[in-house]
Amino acid sequence: MPADYHSHTPLCRHAVGGPTEYVEAALAAGITEYGISDHAPALPEPFDDWRMLSSELEQYFTWIESARTHAANRLPIRSGLECDWLPDCEGWIEDLAGRYPWDYLIGSVHYLGDRWDFDNPKWLGRWAETDVEAAWSRYWEEYAAMAESGLFDILAHPDLIKKFGFRPEGDLQRFYEPAMEAIAASGCVIEINTAGWHKPCAEQYPALDFLRMARDAGVPLIISSDAHAPAELGRDFHRAIALAKDAGYTETVLFEGRQRSSEPLP
Ligand code: ZN
Ligand code: FE
Ligand code: FE
Ligand code: ZN
Repeated sequence: MPADYHSHTPLCRHAVGGPTEYVEAALAAGITEYGISDHAPALPEPFDDWRMLSSELEQYFTWIESARTHAANRLPIRSGLECDWLPDCEGWIEDLAGRYPWDYLIGSVHYLGDRWDFDNPKWLGRWAETDVEAAWSRYWEEYAAMAESGLFDILAHPDLIKKFGFRPEGDLQRFYEPAMEAIAASGCVIEINTAGWHKPCAEQYPALDFLRMARDAGVPLIISSDAHAPAELGRDFHRAIALAKDAGYTETVLFEGRQRSSEPLP
């Protein structure tokens, strides 16, 4: 089974489980590496109620070290953060990048416009009144800008904007194409995020069409669960591997010290 690099800890206030439980679950799931990438602090604080504060980074480092101690000689533990792409965040991301010997940084677009965290279930009502076409346009522009920033190793859940099932009419390639150009030029890795299968959209992130385009553009791939509980590590990886192969992928990538290597898909 490939590595699982996208996972959370209780420091973000909406995930459960301790480091030893995650390590045991990772071993049980048979993933080759367990990567921790909790929601990074964002400025100004408190930014929202679903991430750690910068004053909690030390606790996060301790959490990672506990996982390493428990996993010793049994499982490689990788460390990262899931950082939010926000207006004028660049200096802060660079600051965070220097705080710990990270193995990778993940970039995510969860916010649009007036600080609308569009994937938060509390905004379901707002979605019903939203111009879906405009929201998608805005989302993909931000996604491309995030890729172009060069701050991240991995770009998370590419089409998260579909989470609640609100999709514009017609062929979605018009959104994918300009974003794909930026992603391919950036050298960033994308993920198949299996959590989408458990959300209202009932589809992995990204859609198969997007994945095929990414493959054709030479964009490397990881598979991740976005686990918010130990039992979710490696969830649906067999299904995701089959999908990756369907899109033409033959390998996935590993990270250590922000350096990338590849390994064949099982
Ligand atoms: Zn989360
Ligand atoms: Fe996310
Ligand atoms: Fe996540
Ligand atoms: Zn995520």
